[in-house]
Amino acid sequence: MRTEILRADDASIARAAQIIRSGGLVAFPTETVYGLGADALNADAVRKIFIAKDRPFDDPLIVHIAHVQQLALLARPIPERVWDLTERFWPGPLTLVLPKTDRVPEITTGGLDTVAVRAPAHPVARKLIEMSGCPIAAPSANRFGRPSPTTAQHVLEDLDGRIELILDDGPTPIGVESTVLDLTEDPPMVLRPGGVTLEALQEILGEVRLLSSSAREAAKRSPGTRYRHYAPRAQLLLAESGELEQIVRGLLKAGKQVGVMVRQSRLQCSPAPLVLSVIQMPLDLSEYAQRLFAALRELDAHGVDVIVVEKIEERGLGRAIMDRLRKASSGEQFRV
Ligand code: AMP
Ligand code: MG
Repeated sequence: MRTEILRADDASIARAAQIIRSGGLVAFPTETVYGLGADALNADAVRKIFIAKDRPFDDPLIVHIAHVQQLALLARPIPERVWDLTERFWPGPLTLVLPKTDRVPEITTGGLDTVAVRAPAHPVARKLIEMSGCPIAAPSANRFGRPSPTTAQHVLEDLDGRIELILDDGPTPIGVESTVLDLTEDPPMVLRPGGVTLEALQEILGEVRLLSSSAREAAKRSPGTRYRHYAPRAQLLLAESGELEQIVRGLLKAGKQVGVMVRQSRLQCSPAPLVLSVIQMPLDLSEYAQRLFAALRELDAHGVDVIVVEKIEERGLGRAIMDRLRKASSGEQFRV
């Protein structure tokens, strides 16, 4: 199959919608990362997503809708507090886990009796869902386990020859995936930190729990989290700022090609002259998130053996960033 990249405009979005309606796959931009979409209610179409990505069938997909009214088709019963959340955060990077209706095929939810739903804010994603006339199941458009794609080029790197069409609308603005919030429990639980911060959810909901990163607990609640994710080809090591230089020196001494991701403020004390590749990461957490996956892919392209990343503070978007870095690092592989 030949994979075409088209600039996202009305004509290419109409063509993409036609592919979705006829049971095919299309990669498209959302405000978080690029997604790989299929008609969420068509089990055969959804199966193709798992095959194209090499994704395990027990890792459930997020279903994307254009309007909050479409929620009733997918989820029942809908608890009252959903409306405060959708009012405040939709369209946007918040995914809600709710009891599913019979309309949602089991393959879409990885066999679970709950469904994850979000309304993306990106105009191309919204238009595609509207024109397709169906909810679109869409995980990130990368090969399973790889860093998520934040450009059309990243999608091509991973899925060339496996899908028909990629809609290109440049780099995605947020750069990390949505926050996944499980509303089937009380208090609600964040299964995956993401574009909407824990602090913002607490403002609306009061008490919110954060899924512990223990492998057993995570695997039970959110099957996808048991696998290694977001990983570059190089080994990834997380380092405290104070240890960074020593770790890099040790690796260089051992003959490794080393890549480093450090934030601007620390650059004077970084071992820049010694290492093969240094990427300066922004101090601002939103900008950091936006750059994160592209930086991992860039260091891979430089052919480094090891990527050393300076840890960042776990507040606000920093939680989502550290979650991705931990799962990408060899230290925590969530194998059960
Ligand atoms: P991706 O779309 O690749 O970002 O992955 C979606 C993630 O959302 C999965 O790996 C799960 O961890 C989570 N998820 C999707 N559906 C459910 C669900 N019904 N219950 C719990 N977690 C879910
Ligand atoms: Mg993913």
